[in-house]
Amino acid sequence: MTILFYLTIMYTIYKTIIGGYYMKFEDFKYVRPDLELYVSNMKAQLDDIANGKDYATEIKAIRNIFDLQDDMDTMYTLVSTRNSVNTKDEFYEKETDFFNEALPNIQKYDVLVLKKMLESKHKEELQKEFGSLIFTQAELAQKTFSEEIIPDMQNENKLSTEYSKLLAGAKIEFDGGTYNLSQMAPFVQSTDRDIRHRAQLVVSDFFEANEDEIDRIYDEMVQLRHSMALKLGYENFVQLGYDRFGRSDYNHVDVKGYRDQIFESVVPLVTELTARKAKRLNIKEPKSYDLALSFLTGNPKPKGDSKWQVNHAKEMYKEMSPETDKFFSFMLEHNLLELDAKPGKAGGGYCTYLPDYKAPFIFANFNGTAGDVDVLTHEAGHAFQVFSSRDHIPEYRWPTMEAAEIHSMSMEFLAWPWIDKFFEEDTDKYKFNHLAGSISFLPYGVLVDEFQHGIYENPELSKNDRKALWRKIEKKYLPFKDYGDDAFMEKGTFWYKQGHIFGAPFYYIDYTLAQVCAFQFWVKSQENHQTAFDQYLALCKLGGSKSFVDLVESAKLRNPFKDGVVSEIVKPIKDYLDTVDDTKL
Ligand SMILES: [Zn+2]
Repeated sequence: MTILFYLTIMYTIYKTIIGGYYMKFEDFKYVRPDLELYVSNMKAQLDDIANGKDYATEIKAIRNIFDLQDDMDTMYTLVSTRNSVNTKDEFYEKETDFFNEALPNIQKYDVLVLKKMLESKHKEELQKEFGSLIFTQAELAQKTFSEEIIPDMQNENKLSTEYSKLLAGAKIEFDGGTYNLSQMAPFVQSTDRDIRHRAQLVVSDFFEANEDEIDRIYDEMVQLRHSMALKLGYENFVQLGYDRFGRSDYNHVDVKGYRDQIFESVVPLVTELTARKAKRLNIKEPKSYDLALSFLTGNPKPKGDSKWQVNHAKEMYKEMSPETDKFFSFMLEHNLLELDAKPGKAGGGYCTYLPDYKAPFIFANFNGTAGDVDVLTHEAGHAFQVFSSRDHIPEYRWPTMEAAEIHSMSMEFLAWPWIDKFFEEDTDKYKFNHLAGSISFLPYGVLVDEFQHGIYENPELSKNDRKALWRKIEKKYLPFKDYGDDAFMEKGTFWYKQGHIFGAPFYYIDYTLAQVCAFQFWVKSQENHQTAFDQYLALCKLGGSKSFVDLVESAKLRNPFKDGVVSEIVKPIKDYLDTVDDTKL
């Protein structure tokens, strides 16, 4: 007892003093968790909840569970981050296998904790202590899960992996080289029209060659999800899809109204912006392969390497506020920015969090494009939010996805007064492109969403009906999209490329909702940067302690689901874009 007590104290000191102030990411210690010990510790604490014990015992047990979960989460995150930093490191590859197998058993206890909290006779007092959201989320978690669907969930994961592998295995022959899909991106965006035209056609050829396989995978996914929904007592997969994301304060009717607003207020503006782009690019009849390019002179680029950019980011966050200064210095002192592309490193970028060290971690692959600066604003926005809500209980450190993207997308806009440090003579180009690109994304985002509603409301649709449905909705939201001689895309297959449709159904509208909220921070910061930042900071501190609409309202933002809100938000953006002579950029 005394030894254990002593060790706990020592460990706490280790975590807060040594871990919090001196250690660097590479010194954070990983030890493979003892699963049996974890399970027995969890069981011991769970025995004290909803078991007739007094309130003080119960709350102590819940807090102990949060600590156990944080320790486990820290070890898991150390493994996943280190594995992505060097995929060739055999040690962390073995530890990844360990966690892949252990996770279902660990998660089982997470679900159990929530179940016990719901059953507690002290539920009302617990709600006062922790807020009611965790209980709402717990109810959703119980609704979306039953032992009966575990094999279906495993099959769903298997199908997702099949889809990712099929795309990752693409070997596309182009102009004497062999490329995968992401390596084709520079050709698709080439300033040479013939190159981007031919690049689109070879990419389409790849998807056409795999049409039967992709159709089969998707059909199996749709049937599987529909049957899971029926087993859980839902009418179809739509509400189950919403519940799986923990959406507790809006439904498919609100989302339909929101899509209608985008159709009425944003589609005309994006159609106009596309016409301006065609003029800028000196093209009479723009085709689909012309849309990825913004300027004949090429897209804006940062004017230095990663070290140079990080130095500018440090200055920027220092000037922005004492809070952002403290945050970014913490990231640097503890080596929590893993930015440069190198052999063996996994692709892409992300932001995650190590609870025991109260440390966010940013992973990226810098490549000299404007995307590098996005990491230092967008991913840093995510990191700043979680850093600001680090003292919340684990459930509330991150909000649901549509809210989480508000923090990152808004930071991109709050960085505008300093953005010239990165882009120098390309600054005006960057700003125009940032705003025009963000607004142009909205119709595509709601297209992806409307398509999925059509699919899961009518799971019996044939493979060809699905393609026809896509093309019909695509023409509604992107009326300017002309596939020219690309007959395969014209048939309605662009969605084959959109991984979210396969791996995370109904997750996509989130980006558009967050974007509409982030635009409001852009408008506010144009008027008064300090006021905008203060509101942003207050929102970051709330973390995930409230649901989406509650967070939006707490941050004094307008709720995008309310009729007329989208058109009001779009107006100042259109005004700004109208004042820019983009033909001179
Ligand atoms: Zn993000």
